[in-house]
Amino acid sequence: MRCSIGIDVGGTKTLGAVVCEDGRIIHQVRCATPASDRDGVVQTVVELAATLAAYAASESHEVVGVGVGTAGQVNFEAGTVVSGTPNIRDWMNVDLRSALEPIGFPVWVDNDVNVHLLAETRFGVAAGRQHVLMLALGTGVGGAAWEDGRLVRGDWGAACEFGHVCVDYRGPDCNCGSRGCLELYASGTGIARMMRERLAQTGGSTPSPTLDARAVLQQAQAGDPVAAAVVHDMLDALSMACVSLIHAFNPQMIVLGGGVMESGEWLLTGVRERVKTLGMSSLVRPVAIAAAQFGAEAGVVGAALQSFLYEQTLEE
Ligand SMILES: [Zn+2]
Repeated sequence: MRCSIGIDVGGTKTLGAVVCEDGRIIHQVRCATPASDRDGVVQTVVELAATLAAYAASESHEVVGVGVGTAGQVNFEAGTVVSGTPNIRDWMNVDLRSALEPIGFPVWVDNDVNVHLLAETRFGVAAGRQHVLMLALGTGVGGAAWEDGRLVRGDWGAACEFGHVCVDYRGPDCNCGSRGCLELYASGTGIARMMRERLAQTGGSTPSPTLDARAVLQQAQAGDPVAAAVVHDMLDALSMACVSLIHAFNPQMIVLGGGVMESGEWLLTGVRERVKTLGMSSLVRPVAIAAAQFGAEAGVVGAALQSFLYEQTLEE
């Protein structure tokens, strides 16, 4: 059987899988992402890919390529991580393609949200659609865009940093250098920060040091007025960003994924209700706002799908 090796490099764990052309995972391995340094992470990725290639060979599968998805800004053409994520130490100027090519297959490297959107447009909630945007709400907020059947990359690959779309130009400073970015309101980190600030303002109970977005979302659902106000702000910011993106891209669908959205359908409903009332109705009304279909496996499946999607470009 034709298959591809997908590697999903995350802040705490790195997943690898042998994936068939129909998106099925036939073998999966996970390991901790070394916290030591960049070379340790690269070595882990290379060893994982080699282990999976050996497994595929032992089962007589034909390996088409190796695809990697990683957080950070990736130069897709070069196969390098240009600038990274604080979650992986020293994750910048990493030539993953050169590190992986000795295993003997074509290597593709892309941003983690880009490869997640590949999985959604191929086999997930956006299957068959040609104009799709994605926002992944996790520790940060990542974005991706699919136009006419291909990912939008910009000049060198870093397009669609939707987490750093400004929703309040008078807002707080963001770690990107700008102000009032969506990520400050709609990421897990941002939700927890807003909750702490509100609790401090209201002089209420001191927040637990372990307060996280999951707890805030649960408290909001349980009727806590402070948590509900935080989620209200989060949904306003997210909806405003969605409307700006709709105005810019004219998409058919916006896919919302990431850990924050796992809280459930109620967040999706909150965004749908707001988006309908904002912006140019001819653009806004037809847009489907949907939850990502792929969960924890999005990274490895999407990373692996790159090999099938791009293999013909090798012959050009
Ligand atoms: Zn920012």
